[in-house]
Amino acid sequence: MPVKTFKYRLRPTKQQEEQLAKHFGSCCFIWNYFLAQRKDYYLNNEQTIRAKKVKGLTYYDNAKKLTELKKQDTYAWLNKTNSQSLQATLKDLDNAYARFFKKQAQFPRFKKKYDKQAFRVPQHVRIKNSRIYFPKFKQGIKVNLHRNLEGKIQNVTISRNQIGQYFVSISCQVKINPFPKNKNTVGLDLGIKNFAVCSDGKIYDNQKILNKYESKLRYKQKQLSKKNKGSKNRDKARIEVAKVHNKIGNTRQDFLHKTSTHILKNHGTVCIEDLNVKGMMANHRLAKSVGDASWAEFVRQLEYKADWYGRKLVKIDKFFPSSATCYWCKHVNQELALKHRKWICPNCKKELDRDYNASLNILKQGLHKLNGGRDYRQKPVELPSVDGAVKQEAQLSLAVE
Ligand SMILES: [Zn+2]
Repeated sequence: MPVKTFKYRLRPTKQQEEQLAKHFGSCCFIWNYFLAQRKDYYLNNEQTIRAKKVKGLTYYDNAKKLTELKKQDTYAWLNKTNSQSLQATLKDLDNAYARFFKKQAQFPRFKKKYDKQAFRVPQHVRIKNSRIYFPKFKQGIKVNLHRNLEGKIQNVTISRNQIGQYFVSISCQVKINPFPKNKNTVGLDLGIKNFAVCSDGKIYDNQKILNKYESKLRYKQKQLSKKNKGSKNRDKARIEVAKVHNKIGNTRQDFLHKTSTHILKNHGTVCIEDLNVKGMMANHRLAKSVGDASWAEFVRQLEYKADWYGRKLVKIDKFFPSSATCYWCKHVNQELALKHRKWICPNCKKELDRDYNASLNILKQGLHKLNGGRDYRQKPVELPSVDGAVKQEAQLSLAVE
């Protein structure tokens, strides 16, 4: 069954904030304490044995050691935190470590004071009368239930972001109704100038929103750089910068969700490139505040939502030259550079829009792959003219605060 996450704002009292701070602190301490042991071992041992599960450093060893720590006077403060949350931290560390050895992630990092803070509550969570109850919080914390919680609760995470807002994220197993059947197919070219150019002529543009926040961010960062290190004003300025980052993050996330759902709702089959996001980032200075993780997150959303809604998502080989191949005559233009937004095919003389041409190729290639590798012969339909396509904007209402 699909898992959906519901996120709600928490309104703790001053006293509860202190208690939450203890939980964040303890879980952060546990993570760093046991990560240090693993890192030491990793750095000091031979390649051949450091990858294996090492005696004394497994989850069970860590959990045993944790019980011992809690009995010592020096670490008695750990007892003020829900013991299941501490154990969940150890499990998360163990998983992060395992993912590293499976080459799915970087080596786990130490957690810092200024990062977003979080702890998990694996069991005994109850929501009643707009309050959330869990171990060590008998009075319940006020929760803003702006939408209904559905399904069976699987995991609960309490967090505090860098600007001091508290949230609870609740993952639930839910039944999701697939979208009605749809025979439309589409190819997407994800890019920088336009976020997504579709083979049916639609364009999803998020640049406007981002421009709006970019100048604000630059201003706040300048303010921050003027403040003395260690001063109270510097702390305040840091929060101001974090607030803008927070706004950008929320707006971007909102845009990605609306776009991914909109595309899947209107198309039964969606073809995309298996993007080498890291390579794209390194290549372009726009990697900075904005282009950043958007593509990876967007593809992730398309993947799980395609699953939820009964849609087909086809990823084509990232080495296929989707931009440089002429859709009409298959000629590959070796001379095409990133700066060429429009080009004329030297072979068939058609005028091509770089991104739109790529989206058509991605669609063709995707349908070819879906067809079991047999040559896909698309009926020679006249597609919307390039200029018409570029002018057409996707009808997407974006909530810009
Ligand atoms: Zn051509």
